[in-house]
Amino acid sequence: MLVVMHQKATREEIDNVVQAIEQRGYVARPIPGGQRVSIGVLHNKGPVDGSLFLGLPGVKDVIPVTRPYKLVGREFKPQDSVIRVGDVPVGKGFFTIIAGPCALESEEQAITIARHVKEFGAHMFRGGAFKPRTSPYSFQGLGERGLKILDKVREVTGLPVVTEVMDYENFDLVESFADVIQIGARNMQNFSLLRRAGKAKKPILLKRGIAATVEEWLMAAEYIMEGGNEQVILCERGVRTFVHHSRNTLDLSAVPYVRSESHLPVIVDPSHAAGRRDQVIPLSQAAVGVGADGIMVEVHHTPDKALSDGAQSLYPEQFRELCRNVRSIYRLLQLNHSEGK
Ligand code: PEP
Ligand code: MN
Repeated sequence: MLVVMHQKATREEIDNVVQAIEQRGYVARPIPGGQRVSIGVLHNKGPVDGSLFLGLPGVKDVIPVTRPYKLVGREFKPQDSVIRVGDVPVGKGFFTIIAGPCALESEEQAITIARHVKEFGAHMFRGGAFKPRTSPYSFQGLGERGLKILDKVREVTGLPVVTEVMDYENFDLVESFADVIQIGARNMQNFSLLRRAGKAKKPILLKRGIAATVEEWLMAAEYIMEGGNEQVILCERGVRTFVHHSRNTLDLSAVPYVRSESHLPVIVDPSHAAGRRDQVIPLSQAAVGVGADGIMVEVHHTPDKALSDGAQSLYPEQFRELCRNVRSIYRLLQLNHSEGK
């Protein structure tokens, strides 16, 4: 349930409602809005009797919440959330491009790629130091040495960096180097990791699980927000289906659906969805079309020599073309949108 306060409700009246909610054994979470404060009621086992709060001073309305996710949902917060990573916004009114190699391989590799992607229009750099690999014999990432390379990339290019945390044990370490902490598809329902992410001070990029429904994905985001970290970016990266023409199936229809259900920004990773380079540009273009707030793409200057995911990594020149195309489509849609108003 959501308790909506009057526009002119005082601090005291808000505190009073918070107290009244907590006295009944629930958790109250004030949510500042553009016009007024609302107070979410959390940890209730069943329906809450709204009349308990309706008569309190400063209360305008009580609204039942119909979805299992609360903090993540538009019922709690109708306005789009924008997550700020340094100077880079992720969310409404901006199309954020994140690019870089699948895995950090060396300082030279990372800086070469970072320089290319920055020149062609990336706003953030991605690169894994801890890699979730299907085979234990595959390259597992450089670990802490990789994280130190990210520091260098930031220093040389000024780009904020996104990197994956794979386990609870390394969370503090990854958090100290990353500007955005990625939770990968395989860990989307690693609940101890999600709880730790809820305590993090950095934004979390939460990928959709390989076989997760949208509801499960949003509930995973709810864990992070419930823990107190409201900076969550959702990332659709394809789900497992029966097809063989791509590694996964990019669920484009999830994007407008999630945007209608949640105020959180949603970006698309066409690289892990496709698994092959030739589909990455078309899928990126489609992602803009369905209203994604950005994309995250794998790029490598010598993909045939890449230690991970070379087959889906774009050559820098292809990334240049991708940036040009997605920016044109985004501008066109914005223009049409503002003319339609
Ligand atoms: C990645 O982005 O490096 C990655 C491993 O992606 P996913 O978790 O979506 O497979
Ligand atoms: Mn990869």
